Amino acid sequence: MAVNYSELKAGGFMRQKQKNCFSMRLATTGGQVSAKELAAIMEVANTYGHGYIHLTSRQGIEIPFIQLKDIEAVKETLAKGGARNGVCGPRVRTITACQGNETCPNGCIATQPIAKELAERYFGKELPHKFKFGVTGCQNNCLKAEENDLGIKGGIQVTWKEEDCISCGVCVKACRKGAITLEDGKITVDYEKCNNCGRCFFACPTSAYAGEQGYMLSFGGLFGNTITKGEPMVPFIKDHDTLLRVCDACINWFKDNAKPSERFYFTIQRVGKDSLEKALKEAYNG
Ligand code: SF4
Ligand code: SF4
Ligand code: SF4
Repeated sequence: MAVNYSELKAGGFMRQKQKNCFSMRLATTGGQVSAKELAAIMEVANTYGHGYIHLTSRQGIEIPFIQLKDIEAVKETLAKGGARNGVCGPRVRTITACQGNETCPNGCIATQPIAKELAERYFGKELPHKFKFGVTGCQNNCLKAEENDLGIKGGIQVTWKEEDCISCGVCVKACRKGAITLEDGKITVDYEKCNNCGRCFFACPTSAYAGEQGYMLSFGGLFGNTITKGEPMVPFIKDHDTLLRVCDACINWFKDNAKPSERFYFTIQRVGKDSLEKALKEAYNG
């Protein structure tokens, strides 16, 4: 029987150099894999692979040396642990994320619930080419948001409150953008210089900064044969519904405008940034 390699690839089975061998990609979200899934993955690697896994650069797990004849048995074994095969080819790929503010003290947003929601909404969606989302919790950018087709970075929009300030100067030292100055006992914040890192908000001993959590998005990042940093195209997003509307608009614009096998960055270059910005801003404005 003829082997349908495209179908196998769509299901995360990538052909190896070795005949009839596949590296099996698993579905993961935000770099988190449960102990139960790991046990099933270990069983598959030991029984059907060569006893090891490969951790990919985008928080994925691949099990090399799976034979064509074992694919169904592999899927069944993985399913026992709640693990499943991933995707490859022209569709929405693994949603990556850092740990976010659920565990990281620097985090401005909860990245993991966002990654899970994006995965439920888009993972595996058919598109003209691959499409990558990455979610990072703050300006430290451990997840490198701008490498992704759509990068999401958490931030805090701060407002200084004079009535709560004791002029200690801690926030001046905390700010890496030189946005805060203290003169004659009075703080001045240059909001134009502020990058919403939230460091003053976290550092102030008297909570003299009000802070609103939100998202800073970048579009069109690429880190392969062509290397380019995703660009911001919408203002700071303060609510979850707007975030999802803008993500939907972005995916739909790509689907409607890209040629087959054209990455998002090149579609933006060919069709024009104005067209994408218009679609994103409409979604942003609701
Ligand atoms: S990007 Fe920020 S929130 Fe995420 S792990 Fe790094 S420091 Fe923590
Ligand atoms: S949020 Fe960050 S950049 Fe903005 S004023 Fe505070 S410390 Fe400075
Ligand atoms: S850290 Fe807080 S209390 Fe201290 S100078 Fe800054 S705003 Fe005022």
